[in-house]
Amino acid sequence: MKINSVKLNNFRNISSMELHATDGVNVIYGENAQGKTNILEAIWLFTGCKSFRGSKDNEFIKFNEDIAKINLDFSDNVRNKKSEIIIGNKKKNVSLNGVSLRSSSELIGSFYAVIFSPSHLSLIKDGPSGRRRFLDTALCQLKPSYAEHLAGYRRALLQRNALLKDLHLSPQLYDILDSWDDQLSRYSAAVISERLKYIEILSQYSKQIYAGISENKEYFSVTYSRNDITDINISVSDLYNLELERIKNARKEDVLYKTTTIGPHRDDIDILINNVSARSFGSQGQQRSCALALKLGESEIIKKITGETPVALLDDVMSELDEKRQDYVLNHINDRQVFLTCCDPSQVLRLCGGKSFLINGGEIV
Ligand code: ATP
Ligand code: MG
Repeated sequence: MKINSVKLNNFRNISSMELHATDGVNVIYGENAQGKTNILEAIWLFTGCKSFRGSKDNEFIKFNEDIAKINLDFSDNVRNKKSEIIIGNKKKNVSLNGVSLRSSSELIGSFYAVIFSPSHLSLIKDGPSGRRRFLDTALCQLKPSYAEHLAGYRRALLQRNALLKDLHLSPQLYDILDSWDDQLSRYSAAVISERLKYIEILSQYSKQIYAGISENKEYFSVTYSRNDITDINISVSDLYNLELERIKNARKEDVLYKTTTIGPHRDDIDILINNVSARSFGSQGQQRSCALALKLGESEIIKKITGETPVALLDDVMSELDEKRQDYVLNHINDRQVFLTCCDPSQVLRLCGGKSFLINGGEIV
């Protein structure tokens, strides 16, 4: 996967910009608040996923303007493609090769990228919701069926929770809980089964990558944090039975707390360095290396499944990594196109060469 050029109009602080990329490393550098991350964010939108900063569409439009327009000219293994996203205050128009799409999620599968930004450190540092989001986003991109199971699970969860809230008013509703337990367990089994498979492959790739980053001095592992599942090849029907039993056992507590206290919406992944929690015991550099290993692992999985090497978008990742770790990361991704932002490009350019772009006030200088 390769970007030939990206064009931005009235996107965040950028009035008008066209960037012609090189096949290797593209270093986007400049002082703080000049528009470096904004460029990566614009590129990311062509994956069909939501902003990695959690921004709403109308926040992309430059202040005091009506529409933002971004164009991407890129090539996959087979051919050259052009995509355009026009964002208005109420409406977004997306097209691929001149054909209008119903929504930007229809872009999923056309352009692959992996983004790593400082906010991804929360994968290691913060609570489980970010780790679940990481898993769900990665799987939704690769497997549309996963997105359906997850949506089904969320709908059933909402209904069951609503029922739990009303139970004290109408105890006769108690019997209906059985049918929601059944539905929830079915979706739950499908979701967990895919998550287990994904984590298994992710673990293999990330382990190797982390070993490389740490020069084999540290051991990294990632597992789905369910001690009751010992066989990761467990069948969906066995998982269903396990989930059904679990939800029945949790009923007393669920009724007490008026919410569903167990299930994939509460599960987590364990990330360990040398067999201890990276969250509790990892240094800044180790935590950053873990997050990088996970993101680069994600990239390897996309490559394996789709045959396309995703473009790597690295937002300010080199700070906090010592020179050896920086060196490893740049070597590891030298088989693909990279867009990397930083304030001081000298070290990165010394390590990897590539093309550099100085950004000042939303313009390429
Ligand atoms: P840093 O090195 O601090 O990460 P950066 O170059 O990555 O800086 P960006 O995050 O790209 O900076 O943001 C650049 C500027 O864009 C910010 O000052 C921000 O206020 C501005 N900005 C964000 N959204 C809009 C918008 N809709 N209209 C105009 N300016 C915006
Ligand atoms: Mg930035």
